[in-house]
Amino acid sequence: MRRIAIVTLFLLLVGAGIWLFIMNYNHIERHVYQLNPGTPLATPVTCLSSGTPGPCILIVGGIHGNEPAGVQAAQELAEGLMPQRGRLVVVDVANPLAVAAGMRFISTETDLNRAFSIKGADGNTGKQAQAFWSLLEKERIDWVIDLHEAGGFFRRDETEVGQTLIFSPAPAAADLVLTVLDEINCRVGPDLAFTYLSPPQSGSLVREAWEQLGIPGLIVETCKQQELTARVAQQQLVVKIIVDEILINRK
Ligand SMILES: [Zn+2]
Repeated sequence: MRRIAIVTLFLLLVGAGIWLFIMNYNHIERHVYQLNPGTPLATPVTCLSSGTPGPCILIVGGIHGNEPAGVQAAQELAEGLMPQRGRLVVVDVANPLAVAAGMRFISTETDLNRAFSIKGADGNTGKQAQAFWSLLEKERIDWVIDLHEAGGFFRRDETEVGQTLIFSPAPAAADLVLTVLDEINCRVGPDLAFTYLSPPQSGSLVREAWEQLGIPGLIVETCKQQELTARVAQQQLVVKIIVDEILINRK
């Protein structure tokens, strides 16, 4: 009899746990639409809304087509992240032409991450940059997190930017980077430690979002001299630390 009571109690607790999980999960509203729909530039935008007021963070991968960790990290984050308040907007393949070709940018186009300062730039690059400007305003983005990769480690060769966080010259971004560095470097250890740089290159999404719209942000640069799985894990960890910091700790 006592055993039946314990089993019943156990099942009730498991049931309550599953119910709470489903209720919490259902609370997140997921909505996907296309940027530049019906064109060769069409690419999905995933919006995850908590239903609770708060900041909106844009997470971008694949601005450069030969930096696969950012694409994979953003794709998986779009499936798994659940904002506790505010919203997350994920564009995992920002430059689909370059990602399909596996190149930084295709030879007939210019570098998308130098095109954001050129209002009305020509060609597909200009169209995609314009679509991002519309997205920033339409989704009322408060922060931009842009995922990239470099060929070498900055700490060994200062012409490279691997294992750095490059922040826009905004006081809030500087503050955020110091917090993120503390947390990420405890996890990755001294050999793979990240450091910071600022400002991002002129014409880059993060630099121009700050200068033209006052939206702070940072670029996460992993180093391609590591396995892809390690780079993806590092990018996801940095994003999760940032999301927790902005959406939970800074309430
Ligand atoms: Zn890049």
